[in-house]
Amino acid sequence: MAALKMLSSDDFAGRKTGTEGNRKAMEWIESQLRDRAVMPATKEGYRAPFTAPNFRSPDEIIEGINLVAAISGTKNPKTAIIMSAHYDHLGADDGIYNGADDNASGVSALLEAISWFQANPPKNTILFAFFDAEEQGIVGSASMVDQFSTTEKENIAINLNLDMVSRADKSELYAIGGYHFPELIPLIKDIASRAPLKLLRGHETPDLGPDDWSFASDHAPFLRSGIRILYLGVEDHADYHKPSDEFDKVEPDAFARSVDTIMLTAEALDDWVAGLETSPTD
Ligand SMILES: [Zn+2]
Repeated sequence: MAALKMLSSDDFAGRKTGTEGNRKAMEWIESQLRDRAVMPATKEGYRAPFTAPNFRSPDEIIEGINLVAAISGTKNPKTAIIMSAHYDHLGADDGIYNGADDNASGVSALLEAISWFQANPPKNTILFAFFDAEEQGIVGSASMVDQFSTTEKENIAINLNLDMVSRADKSELYAIGGYHFPELIPLIKDIASRAPLKLLRGHETPDLGPDDWSFASDHAPFLRSGIRILYLGVEDHADYHKPSDEFDKVEPDAFARSVDTIMLTAEALDDWVAGLETSPTD
């Protein structure tokens, strides 16, 4: 809740890619990574700057900065799970779009996941990606996926993406991925049986039109390139993409149950991936 409050404060002016508020948000997240002494994903550090086309409208070029940290796997260090959440949002016009749910919530959950896996080391390597420019057309994540070599791509077991995970007002969270990767369905069912809220499947079939979330957030470039995805998020609410998506709308108990479910999912995925037959290539 402290991270959520910080990231959704007016100080970051809506965190729109390319603005000073976005830069401040990036620097604050980076300071959180340093405080946790989590390993940067590259020799250059946490920052992965990009200049890349808008995923939805490729003529438009966007610049931004992803932040990526890593915790090495104890059993399969070459196999990677990428946990992700975007930190950018819509900026300000007639009001400040503080984006508490979208997606200060996912970033806060991701920071919590880092602390949890530092205390409980994962079997596979986990990369923690804080994406920029999701609201500009899913650009930061697309740029990351574009830069993977074939070998790197083969070694990525799954992308677990978090976008809008705090407003579990009806005590519901959706898991998207089983339709595309049926091998995930028993896993999702098992997590649902243990989760402190209703973990539902849905919003993932093409017949749903705009209610199909398969390509709605940063998991889209992973899915499009054939990498397994599991996306967790709540249904759109009255404050979606409005200045009223504020911290005070988040019910701490609902958010806590959502984060507990996210951690159950991350842990179950790590165990499941460690048990897969396919061995990683060098
Ligand atoms: Zn979002």
